[in-house]
Amino acid sequence: MGAPEPLLPPWARKTYSLVADKSKPIPQVQIDCEEANCEHWREGWVTTLDLATEQGREFHKLAIGSGRQFEERRQGTMAYLHFFPGQPCFRATKHFALTDERPALYLIRNGDERQYTSRTVVPRPADWVDDFREHTETLSDEIKKG
Ligand SMILES: [Zn+2]
Repeated sequence: MGAPEPLLPPWARKTYSLVADKSKPIPQVQIDCEEANCEHWREGWVTTLDLATEQGREFHKLAIGSGRQFEERRQGTMAYLHFFPGQPCFRATKHFALTDERPALYLIRNGDERQYTSRTVVPRPADWVDDFREHTETLSDEIKKG
């Protein structure tokens, strides 16, 4: 047995719904290393630089200027920077988490699940509420009139 057949035909009905906006990606929020359970944060890490190269010397300067604590070991032109655990890694601004909320779409459709004749996406939730209230008032007026 299905739902009882609505008394009014689809064209006389209005459907208000709140649906997840599937056209939008699930939003991401930036999180820090600790929240991301970042391995570098947990265990520290080693950055290996060849100071014989321009790039190596550049990164070495950046590492020193980064304010992160590390112990440096040298072997020939190679520098091994042992960063201590518990500090943000160099990808700290790139840790993201998915939120479970997709932005919602406030929909007003003429008709019902049998047949929709129009579909309006209401940009502001307040307008959706207003329209719904007005519609409900119209209905109760109709009912009073009999
Ligand atoms: Zn990290």
